[in-house]
This record gives sequence, C-alpha cells and structure tokens, in this order.
Amino acid sequence: MTMTFPILFVGAGPGAAEHLTLGALAALRAADVVVHDRLVGTEVLALIPEATRRVDVGKEGFGPSTAQAEIHAVLLSEGLAGRKVVRLKGGDPGIFARLDEEIEAITAAGLTYRILPGLTTASVAAAAIGQGLTQRGRNTGLRILTGHVMEGFAEQDWKALARPGEVAAIYMAKRAARFLQGRLMMHGARPETPVTIVENAGRADQCIRAATLASLAASAAAATGPAILLLGLAPRAAIDTLSQLSEAQA
Ligand code: SAH
Repeated sequence: MTMTFPILFVGAGPGAAEHLTLGALAALRAADVVVHDRLVGTEVLALIPEATRRVDVGKEGFGPSTAQAEIHAVLLSEGLAGRKVVRLKGGDPGIFARLDEEIEAITAAGLTYRILPGLTTASVAAAAIGQGLTQRGRNTGLRILTGHVMEGFAEQDWKALARPGEVAAIYMAKRAARFLQGRLMMHGARPETPVTIVENAGRADQCIRAATLASLAASAAAATGPAILLLGLAPRAAIDTLSQLSEAQA
C-alpha cells in the first residue's frame, strides 16, 4: 500500500509574501505539488521551489474557474499517489474558500488533512486603512459576509446591518454593491455611513477608496481587481501610515 501524507490546506494571505506564516512557507518548501487558486499572490507563488509541481486550478487550461469536482479529483489523485500535497488558498482557507467540501472529498477517500490558517483579507484591509476591526464603544462584533448570497438575506439581518456603528467585512461584494446600498438605505442606514473599498489588499497595487453608503455603488464599480468592502469603517490616517512605513523601510 502506498504511504500517504495529510493534505495541507494552507492560507496564503491576500498577496504579499510578508503576510505568509512561517508554517505556510515550510509547507510550500516541503511539498511535492501545490494546488493553488487564482487569488494567490505572485509574491507567494514565487516562494514555491522551482522543481515543485504547481497545479493552477483557477485559470485557463482548467477553464476560467475550475469546477469543484475537478479540484477534488486532483487532490485525490495526487494524495493517493503518496505525494505531499499543499492546497494553497488566498487569505485564510476557512473563509469563503469551500474548505469543507474539499475536506469531505478527501476524507471520503481515506486521506487525512491539516489546516494551516492564513491572514484573511479583512485583517489586512483594515490594517491598510489604519483601523481595528473592532473598537470599544463602536462595534463589539464583526460580521464576515459574502456579497455572493446577499439576496438570500433575511429582513432582520438587513435591519441589524443598517444600525449605526455596525462593522462588516464583505467579500465578493463588487457586483452586490448596488443591491447592498439599496437594501441598507431601505432599512434606515444613514447615507453618510462610511464604507471603504480595498482593492488588491496587501499587494503592490493596493488601492483604497473611501466612500459612503451614498457613493458606494460608483466606488465599487471602479475596482477591477479583487476587492473587499469594509462597511462602517473609514480610513484613519492610512496614507500617513503607509508613507511612514515605506520611509522606515527605505
Ligand atoms: N479565503 C479568502 C477569501 C476568498 S473569497 C480570504 O480569507 O481572504 C474571494 C474574495 O476575497 C474576493 O472576491 C475579494 O472580495 C476577497 N479578496 C481576496 N484577496 C483579496 C485581496 N488581495 N484584496 C482584496 N480583496 C481580496
């Protein structure tokens, strides 16, 4: 019988190499094959040793977005062949990354797994605008939402989200921005509620757009790369922080 290794689900962070954990780096160096998504940053991909096989399951060749069943098939065939497989996902593998489906597929085939968490985009985006995701007296909770399924949101969810001081990190929200704006206003959110859109968070081409609920749809439409929406947060001295950082590193 072939000896098998646990499949490692590894978080790559949102893009920059400095956001990768030491555990993730060690896993990338030890892997026989790295199966990665489209959203893994180029700086992180550059850390995979030359000789290591890479399977890009997010791009052409496998189609614009690889069917989940095909990803499962790759993980199974590589894992069952006794290779050390790293399943590398952008951000944290447990946030909007279909982790459970992949775990189910590999465990059903008798393979084991480990999860190496990564920095999720919300953390990096909030840091980029000089804000905490929670703050005493402002918000004691944080919602992590996907714009993908907002149309299924119940009325009471909208009501809660529309309350002043509420903070939500909304992933995949570009297309839902107009809908989100309409629903929140309908449930009484103030038009001047701050919303910040962080595109390419943590990458060299990071772009921060400070908006309000009233201008949200237009600002979201301007983003072309991956973007996260921080509802209830405005940039605080973010430009200063960034320029001080680059001065300190110079
Ligand atoms: N597992 C990831 C999220 C994957 S869902 C994480 O923990 O961050 C994909 C969505 O994540 C994108 O639509 C976008 O909303 C967000 N995202 C991923 N990388 C990003 C980046 N570098 N900058 C901004 N948003 C990003």
